[in-house]
Amino acid sequence: MGVIENSKVAIIGAGAVGTSLAYAALIRQSAREIVLYDIDSTRVEAEVLDLAHGTQFTGASVVTGSDDLDVMTGANMVVITAGAKQHPGQSRLELAAINVEILRDLMPRLVERAPDAVFMLVTNPCDVLAVAAQRISGLPPARVFASGTVLDSSRLRWLLAQRAGVSPTSVHAMIVGEHGDSEFPLWSQASIGPVPIMEWQPAEGAPLTASELDAIADDVKGAAYRVIAGKGATNYAIGLSGARIVEAVLHDEGAILPVSSVLSGYHGLDGIALSVPSVVDAGGVSQVIEVPFSVHEEHLLHGSADAIASSLRQLGF
Ligand code: NAD
Repeated sequence: MGVIENSKVAIIGAGAVGTSLAYAALIRQSAREIVLYDIDSTRVEAEVLDLAHGTQFTGASVVTGSDDLDVMTGANMVVITAGAKQHPGQSRLELAAINVEILRDLMPRLVERAPDAVFMLVTNPCDVLAVAAQRISGLPPARVFASGTVLDSSRLRWLLAQRAGVSPTSVHAMIVGEHGDSEFPLWSQASIGPVPIMEWQPAEGAPLTASELDAIADDVKGAAYRVIAGKGATNYAIGLSGARIVEAVLHDEGAILPVSSVLSGYHGLDGIALSVPSVVDAGGVSQVIEVPFSVHEEHLLHGSADAIASSLRQLGF
């Protein structure tokens, strides 16, 4: 592989998440070319204009877009944010079924136009949809993954950083498992700087306790619900998280991120996508990293796997 020159990222879906991802990718110069596709032609044209009008201030990246899928031809990476959102009274499974049908229609047409691309699912339920997209396309599991718990881990690191009085980049902690209710922090591996998390001595206040860590984990799980209750969608943080993952691929970084790919023999799990620490480079997920889990974490990982497996069974996969 190697760094992809003149890289092109295609963002499928120009809604709140797709446009925020495009905005973050423009500012961070994650790709040379950013294209947006949406079936809503009025919306995609307006969003592209609004983004393009700011490119005097964003460096060399260019942004285009259309309701014509050909706009994404030759993309090196495809990020899927298109789909329905959960409506009041609608179950998660009903939402999953609608978004699986969208993927059945989209994936073959996307692969036809970008046969060598790395595909990332952001649309929810992203773990279930990563499995569906991989099965529908028949692409190698390394090249079809979900953004998974990269966003949730960023939320965790921000909360811990605030408590410890350090930068989020100096907090080393990950949420793993399902991007959803059964996700959990890998506390056994967490540290602040080089210090194991339970041994951290803050400059002010008492050291962290196990019950405080539990409360922080619950806070992370509830974060999306709180943001959605207040403003109807989460978009900025997922936009930044998504752009960060795009860079790991297009810059062939080998970055270790908790993305969600179809597992094969990982802690006894097969055919299910869950977020675990993974090496992300130009080939997609080039390696899923073996991490020692505590007995409790192992139990939680299998609980997450059961939740995904149950959804997949009910969706006919
Ligand atoms: P939105 O309703 O604002 O945008 C969805 C867009 O998809 C719309 O513009 C719609 O026209 C488009 N669309 C629908 N069907 C399409 C198709 N067949 N082809 C092309 N475009 C199509 O929704 P949003 O807030 O941007 O959220 C998008 C998805 O991202 C949701 O499923 C949401 O749950 C998910 N999400 C995931 C994460 C994560 O961490 N994985 C975080 C936030 C949101």
